[in-house]
Amino acid sequence: MATAAPDAVKLLCATCGQMNRIPLDRLSAGPRCGSCGEPLADGRVAELDAASHDKAIRADGLPLLVDYWAPWCGPCRMMAPEFAKAAKVLAPQVRLMKLNTEDHPALSQRAGIRGIPALILYRNGRELARAAGARPAQGIVDFVTQTLRG
Ligand code: ZN
Repeated sequence: MATAAPDAVKLLCATCGQMNRIPLDRLSAGPRCGSCGEPLADGRVAELDAASHDKAIRADGLPLLVDYWAPWCGPCRMMAPEFAKAAKVLAPQVRLMKLNTEDHPALSQRAGIRGIPALILYRNGRELARAAGARPAQGIVDFVTQTLRG
C-alpha cells in the first residue's frame, strides 16, 4: 500500500471501523467519518474494542493515546473525567481513546499492562511512551506534549 501523502492523515472511525483519509487542513474543521458520519477528531474519547484497538494503533496517522482501564479500578474512574478534559485540549492533533482491560484481558496482556490505569502513546504503529497511574488532565497533556516534542 502506498504511504499517505504528507498533506493528509488516515484516521480510524472507532464507531464503525472505517479508515478515513483526512486532508490536514480539514483537521480542525470537524472532519466526520465518510461511512457513518461520526466526528473523527472532536475531542471526545472513543471506546476501543480488540479490532479497532489494533487497527488504530497500526494505521492511524495522528498520535494516539490509549487509556487502559477497568470498571472495578477506583483510580481509573477518578481519572476518566480528567482524560476527557485532556482529550479536548489535545484535539484535533492527538486522539485519546480508551480500552476496557476487563473486557479485553488478552489485549492488555499483549500491551504489557501491569497496573491500571496505564497510558500508552502510539504513533505510526509503534509505542512512543507509557505512563502508569492516575494523573490530572494537565499531567496527561504534559505527558503527551513532552513526549511528542521529543
Ligand atoms: Zn464511522
